[in-house]
Amino acid sequence: MTAYDDLMAFQRDTEALGQIAGRLGWDQETVMPRGAVEQRGEEMAAIEGVLHARRTDPRIGEWLAGAEPTDDVARANLREIRRSYDRNTKVPAALASELARTTSVAQGIWAEARAADDWATFAPVLANVVRLRREEGAALADGGDTYNALLQDYEPGATAAEIEAMFAELRTGLVALRERVLGAGDPPAKLDRAFDDAGQMALSAELAKTFGYHMLHGRIDKAVHPFSSGSGLDVRITTRTVPHDPFNCFYSTIHEVGHAAYEQGVDRAYLLTPLGRGASMGVHESQSRIYENQIGRSRAFTGYLYNRMIATFGDFGVTDEEAFYRTVNAVRPGYIRTEADEVHYNLHILMRFDLERALMAGDLAVADLPGAWDERFEADFGVAVDRPSHGCLQDVHWSVGLFGYFPTYTLGNVYAGCLHEALRRDLPDLDAELAEGHTAGATGWLRDNLQRHGALYEPQETIARASGQEPSVAPLLAYLDAKFGDLYGD
Ligand code: ZN
Repeated sequence: MTAYDDLMAFQRDTEALGQIAGRLGWDQETVMPRGAVEQRGEEMAAIEGVLHARRTDPRIGEWLAGAEPTDDVARANLREIRRSYDRNTKVPAALASELARTTSVAQGIWAEARAADDWATFAPVLANVVRLRREEGAALADGGDTYNALLQDYEPGATAAEIEAMFAELRTGLVALRERVLGAGDPPAKLDRAFDDAGQMALSAELAKTFGYHMLHGRIDKAVHPFSSGSGLDVRITTRTVPHDPFNCFYSTIHEVGHAAYEQGVDRAYLLTPLGRGASMGVHESQSRIYENQIGRSRAFTGYLYNRMIATFGDFGVTDEEAFYRTVNAVRPGYIRTEADEVHYNLHILMRFDLERALMAGDLAVADLPGAWDERFEADFGVAVDRPSHGCLQDVHWSVGLFGYFPTYTLGNVYAGCLHEALRRDLPDLDAELAEGHTAGATGWLRDNLQRHGALYEPQETIARASGQEPSVAPLLAYLDAKFGDLYGD
């Protein structure tokens, strides 16, 4: 046995335990009895303790020093293991456990504060989380930029400066597009009848299969906030139903199928290794977004969906496929990120990126966050925020210490724009297939060019290899301009 073999055997058990921890989390959000919360907390803490000990085991350092990679796969495995080992050993154990304790309490306080529109109660808790994450960022940064160091947890290899330049270009384009679209008149009315739960779940399951979700290695359950969970042979998704908004269910499902199909599509040889999962949060989001938006909200596919909805629910008051396409793609300014359309969504992210960088740099105090938020929101969206739950209290992320995570949503959209451009170039007849509900051409292209590689390549290289170009915002802006310029008549 070489040092590399020993390391990979040890790593395989760590990966398996990581999957078990993830499945406990899935269980907690779906089928766990309500009365089990306390016990589950202890179970999770126990397994996280085992995982932390394994990820910082000194033998990993020795194996890494002695391992000699013989091919690209081994080199990539070592890169991923070294990254995790460095990260976990740089943060003092006392700080890591204080962060875990503080954020788990903070999440509960945030949920109550949001429900009560009570910023004052949450502010000191958030200040504590910000302080601890800055400390952690400083430990990880070795004298470099704190925010950059935190970003590496979600998008390895990305830099805040690159993202800042990319987002500045995107913001200019999006604000201009938004003004054109909103100036062109009112969007079509929302659906005005209820859609039964059983019908939504049945069509949702059908859509998951239509998009290539493999039910032998997956399942669909309900959760308050839809998510996907797991890698390899057991990748589960969740969705939700809202009586008057069936699109919430269908597009949540398609989005999560994008994440899950990525995990299911990784080369079987990488199972339970560091390569057996998505390359980064941004690359992951590129898959969920291209399934949901560029494919799922296309004119061709919505034509198919319209007819499936008629077959499932009967006449629901939308006259034809074209009217349905407009209803699905209605553009409305709103306070809430998760309800935003394709034109507005990234503007929500861009402001969070700027605000969280200022918080981490110490340029913005937590006490001044609501004012800074409301000012920026009014500048980009043209409306004043009316209450904290519509403003800086709306997202869970900061309460649980996720600083550096928000930009991966927009990076995902930017990557999806690049991939979509290449996909359309390679598959000129794609719309004819989508109009029949056949997505295999598109999803097969994504699997062959991107998904099967898992984390073999770094995130930016993953996108560059699949799309044939370095990631840039131009394809996303061109796609949005063409789609919404056409929809809103110029
Ligand atoms: Zn997602």
